[in-house]
Amino acid sequence: MSETGKKVAVGIDLGGTAVKIGILNAAYEILAQTSIPTDADRPYQEVIADMGKTASALLARNGFAVADCAGAGVGSPGTIDSKNGVVLYSNNIRWDNVPLAKELQKYLPVPIYVQNDANCAALGEVLRGAAKGCQNAVFLTLGTGVGGGIVINGKIFEGGHPGGAELGHIKCGAEGRRCTCGRADCLEAYASATALIHDAKEMAKQYPDSLLWALCDHDLEKMNAKIPFDAADAGDPCGRLLVDNYIQYLADGITDLANIFRPDLIVLGGGVCAQGEKLTEPLNQHLRANCFGSTVAYVPRAVVAKNGNQAGMIGAAGLVSL
Ligand SMILES: [Zn+2]
Repeated sequence: MSETGKKVAVGIDLGGTAVKIGILNAAYEILAQTSIPTDADRPYQEVIADMGKTASALLARNGFAVADCAGAGVGSPGTIDSKNGVVLYSNNIRWDNVPLAKELQKYLPVPIYVQNDANCAALGEVLRGAAKGCQNAVFLTLGTGVGGGIVINGKIFEGGHPGGAELGHIKCGAEGRRCTCGRADCLEAYASATALIHDAKEMAKQYPDSLLWALCDHDLEKMNAKIPFDAADAGDPCGRLLVDNYIQYLADGITDLANIFRPDLIVLGGGVCAQGEKLTEPLNQHLRANCFGSTVAYVPRAVVAKNGNQAGMIGAAGLVSL
């Protein structure tokens, strides 16, 4: 449906398996959306051509001329040169030095903005999500890895150079766990869903009587990040220990982030957040107990993200000024 005279933004979430494309208004409401497969094995020119043509068609189908579109934002995995709109490197979609903004503009002739996807998700939660109305928020996504984004004074903070805000790669544990980035003991190696699943498998192998086995149908390949929480709920000591350890590591990480940024809120996204208050309640107790100056200073709360799998698209549209 056209909103005559009002500008809209296109928000694009470029993922490993799908590209989500939406048209959003100035209140960051999604007016229309669609999704296409990424097929990242193709030359990047083809992926970007599909993205641009689909976005143009979506605008036209909903009664918007190109002149109605104030710009398009793209959230991409990987290390992004946001000034030049270039994906410097992305392991997820196997892109190396791809001039995304320049290429996309061939098919969608509007201003194009490119940002890291976790940064977009952070902005999305501030614009229209769990941190709506906040000027300062730290976002962590707990999934395959641990991604992060920082919003300061309502804007994404990425330092002066590409590669910033990699909050999953702050030092956390002391067991010498090797992180995907090559360093030892990053937060990601302890607080990602991948790490929790790994720990649960190891725990199950050590304790054949644990409820963990029944909950994964006696097949460790079926282990997921929910099972340890379910086991803990059912009173299984292994499940309790896994959840307590996981929360302790995560709490240490977010307490550091609270001490550095002192944001209004810490927003947690990703699959593990389906646990809701089972996750945030103990984290908030830890924050109140361990945050620097907690008796006199503001202690940010940890809350669960609200935008779900639309966070990237909403935040990408948020890169455009409307
Ligand atoms: Zn790391």
